[in-house]
Amino acid sequence: MPATHHTASTPAADVLICEVGPRDGLQNIARCMPTAAKQAWIDALHGAGLREIEVGSFVPPALLPQMADCAEIVRHARSRPGLTVVALVPNLRGAEAALAAGVHKLTLPVSASTAHSLANVRKTPAQMLAELRSIAALRAERAPQVGIEVGLSTAFGCTLQGAVDEDEVVRLAELAVQAGADEVGLSDTTGMADPERVRRLFLRLRAAIGKHAGAAHLHNTRGLGLANCLAAWDAGVRTFDSSQGGLGGCPFAPGASGNVVTEDLVFMFESMGVATGVDLHGLAAARSALLAGLPGEAVYGMTVDAGLPPHFVYADGRRPPAHTLAGAGR
Ligand code: ZN
Repeated sequence: MPATHHTASTPAADVLICEVGPRDGLQNIARCMPTAAKQAWIDALHGAGLREIEVGSFVPPALLPQMADCAEIVRHARSRPGLTVVALVPNLRGAEAALAAGVHKLTLPVSASTAHSLANVRKTPAQMLAELRSIAALRAERAPQVGIEVGLSTAFGCTLQGAVDEDEVVRLAELAVQAGADEVGLSDTTGMADPERVRRLFLRLRAAIGKHAGAAHLHNTRGLGLANCLAAWDAGVRTFDSSQGGLGGCPFAPGASGNVVTEDLVFMFESMGVATGVDLHGLAAARSALLAGLPGEAVYGMTVDAGLPPHFVYADGRRPPAHTLAGAGR
């Protein structure tokens, strides 16, 4: 299993929220956030209590210039106490760069849809599993403490292929564990999941690979993001990917966020009495840091718009300093 970097001072949390905005968000926005602004944003996210952040991806700068400073961002993020620094890698070359930069965890996307896999990484799912075996061998040799996570993308349906067979998703998860993944999560890349399918597939995942069952990466493309997160929670999932302001996640419709909005996810769990370790006013400050680096960028989140209910208390009994989240901006 991947190393954890939680310190004794980290408050106990019932769920782990992995903030993916600096990777999933920024790589879906054409303009580049300046390196210093990314660092300030990551610092603010960490200051809000987030303890796992996907900070970038190790891909050729010619393909994604937004990620060209990924090694520098990783080195900076490593200075934040108690933070697990995650980076996406599409292949062995990316993994070499990520390990050299000092990531705590690698995440490799493996598409459950062959059509999506060929379009996205020009490899079949089987070829991606071969890549995973090479990455696991490299990790064993160079950095055995580093975790390897596989995110099974298009696990709930694909815009190119249409329906994705659930048996195939479970089979790929088993093969990924055999190939060296510590954790395998499921991603609703195209926003096609519904709560019943989420519950069923995560229960099947856990039955198949047990403790290796990983994060829920769910999108809000059609408004079901939080409902799907709750269904995953009911199925025993305790790690959730989300993005500040719903940034990224390839939204298909104007006015809809792509990724589940971190602010709304934290509000949902804390209201239910499920501790996240994340502070909503801290997230509002982080949102300001995000917008300082990307002025005028569209961000989402109903909790920020509405503010907190006047009687709101966190799961651990703390009261917020104010029910408004003013200054957070849109
Ligand atoms: Zn996403």
